[in-house]
Amino acid sequence: MPRRLTATQRRLLTWADQAGRDLPWRTTRDPWAILVSEVMLQQTQVSRVIPVWTAFLRRFPTPAACATAQQSEVVTAWRGMGYNRRAVNLHRCAIAITEQHGGQLPTSLRELQALPGIGPYTARAVLVFAFEQPVGVVDVNAARVHARLKGHALTNAEVQRRADDATPPTEPWRWNQAVLDLGATVCTKRAPKCGECPLTAECGWRAIGYVAPDPVENSAGIPKRQSTFEGSDRQGRGRLVDALRRGPVSSRPVELAVTMGWSDDADRAIRVAMTVVADGLAQWEQRTETLCLA
Ligand code: SF4
Repeated sequence: MPRRLTATQRRLLTWADQAGRDLPWRTTRDPWAILVSEVMLQQTQVSRVIPVWTAFLRRFPTPAACATAQQSEVVTAWRGMGYNRRAVNLHRCAIAITEQHGGQLPTSLRELQALPGIGPYTARAVLVFAFEQPVGVVDVNAARVHARLKGHALTNAEVQRRADDATPPTEPWRWNQAVLDLGATVCTKRAPKCGECPLTAECGWRAIGYVAPDPVENSAGIPKRQSTFEGSDRQGRGRLVDALRRGPVSSRPVELAVTMGWSDDADRAIRVAMTVVADGLAQWEQRTETLCLA
């Protein structure tokens, strides 16, 4: 006999039915499509993910289609996402799914986490959003909601336990999407819109008068402030990979430095370019003095 939803669960689900986000990966339960969306969403905004996700799945509709492609094709299809190492890991993951699981994503947490580049969050997201298994997913938005509801910072184990305990066994998909929506649109990082929140009665932080510090500070699952992109090594890496998507790039120091936007700092260009090679994204052709996509 299915357990009934609590009043709190009903309230959040009703709110999400009206105010939840309309996202294209919510119309499918295809495990590969869900996995691709989750890997893309890890470090990239939803609005940038949508067109790339759609085109990526058209090009690689199954793990087998991705596994048989060249890694360089997958990295090229990743254009606009940043953090290109994720494309390399996703390609390796597709190969592992094809070789070890007959082309089908496994349905256990242990097997999912054993795949290249799949961490606890992504594994749980696939379990819930593709297979509708009753586990809680904890991304940065969910972690923020759980910490504020509790009223103080949470450890990794605590936030995961709260997310698991809160998930209704009968509605894991809707519930987890609702928590993510609440964190993304109402219980936001800087200015939570508590007047619009369906969980004000349950909010521990609100109950103690929003005393500082905000429970998200030092809470698990909430990254510390990210360093500025402008002028960073990450920006130079991105420029280099973008250039490599168009074809081989000269590895001569002066030309490499221009490609990476640091025309006055060839040493930095070489150092950062070597990290792109070490990550398996590019390879160095000594004979032609060029770099190309691996
Ligand atoms: S009442 Fe405010 S702080 Fe508490 S969960 Fe809702 S939006 Fe977040």
